[in-house]
Amino acid sequence: MDFYLSPRQKQIKMVAREFAEGEFPGIAREYDRKEEFPRELWKKACGLGFIGLFIKKEYGGLGLGFLEFAMVMEEFWRVDPGCGNILLTTFGSELIQLYGTDEQKRIYLPPLPRGEAIMGTAITEPDAGSDILSILTLAKREGDEYVISGTKQFITNGSIANYLAVFCIVQPETESRLKRFGIVMVETDRPGFVATKITGKLGIRASDTAEIRFNEVRVPKKNLIGEEEGEGFYQIMRLFNINRVVAAAQGVGVAQGALERAIQYVKKRKQFGQTLASFQSIQFKIAEMATWIEASRVLTYQAGWMIDHGGVDPKLISMAKWLSGEIGVKVTNEALQLHGGYGYIADYDMERFYRDAKIVEIYEGTKEIEKNTIARELLGR
Ligand SMILES: Cc1cc2nc3c(=O)[nH]c(=O)nc-3n(C[C@H](O)[C@H](O)[C@H](O)COP(=O)(O)OP(=O)(O)OC[C@H]3O[C@@H](n4cnc5c(N)ncnc54)[C@H](O)[C@@H]3O)c2cc1C
Repeated sequence: MDFYLSPRQKQIKMVAREFAEGEFPGIAREYDRKEEFPRELWKKACGLGFIGLFIKKEYGGLGLGFLEFAMVMEEFWRVDPGCGNILLTTFGSELIQLYGTDEQKRIYLPPLPRGEAIMGTAITEPDAGSDILSILTLAKREGDEYVISGTKQFITNGSIANYLAVFCIVQPETESRLKRFGIVMVETDRPGFVATKITGKLGIRASDTAEIRFNEVRVPKKNLIGEEEGEGFYQIMRLFNINRVVAAAQGVGVAQGALERAIQYVKKRKQFGQTLASFQSIQFKIAEMATWIEASRVLTYQAGWMIDHGGVDPKLISMAKWLSGEIGVKVTNEALQLHGGYGYIADYDMERFYRDAKIVEIYEGTKEIEKNTIARELLGR
């Protein structure tokens, strides 16, 4: 058992931290206020190899593991979650890398790290969130094409993506409920594709979110990910397993960023003739926050390490995602409290961090769904 990061991992974290600290603080508030995707920042991050760093070298990425991806996400979220989500511009490319045909890999992967394309994954629908088996979006087979009809809700990058991996029903007649689905790549310039940007989000406002309508969008049959129909559900579960670790890292990062800001603040702020840091109750609070973060980091790294070493463990992944999401919310809440009234004002980062943290308890599976997974593994079905 080795708890030390390798020199390469340390280097990756350090470079990610330097990039985020150099680039995010100057624009974070503005893009949060404008609710706009920071396109220039994303381009710069592509130029430095951060985007799609898990994509294999032959397709233009760095060929790193998902643990390293999670570490970079953690460092980015530590400085600003909204800007940090530029790393999600490859969301779904994991599927192509794992299950795509050679042609799909050649078409869809290289433009992502090069900064020539953005992608996303559309699963959620207005009436099918946690219960993904209840989706209604249909990819109807007509000759060599699919004709896609339906609505997807809350899709990250939905209004800025060049293509989306869309979770559809492809075999409506199949008896096995789990075998009805397929994932179809849809280019967003196809006739009948309509994206409507969602504004007014509580947090991660620099991250694009949209509602998508597919009005009989025609795509070639070869856009189905993989060779066979009916594999979509299993493919999506695999994507969740990877991305829940990355989401867990978001919780760790936002909590770490909040803790560091709180430490700086309590060392400076004086009340009753002494710094806040000199009160024991505040020292205890800092100690507790740091301990919670370390526990969620260890769990997150362990879950990520296992994925990279062929041991995907849904229970462990769900534990990491649930705990880190909850710790993110808890620590940002405590850190804001330590800032008193100043924490409540947008001039301080704490207000934004507090809003941003909540999403980790919702997307990529709500915390209740994570607990369902953990309990199911422990108790059986
Ligand atoms: C900013 C943002 C970005 C997103 N990005 C994407 C994206 O890129 N792609 C995508 O497909 N989706 C995306 N989502 C959607 C997200 O994954 C869903 O919102 C989430 O899965 C929950 O679904 P829902 O909102 O329909 O809530 P529901 O499923 O309706 O759940 C409502 C509440 O009921 C609870 N609940 C539901 N079922 C159970 C149960 N069996 N037991 C106990 N409690 C239960 C939930 O935990 C939750 O607290 C995004 C959402 C947001 C807000």
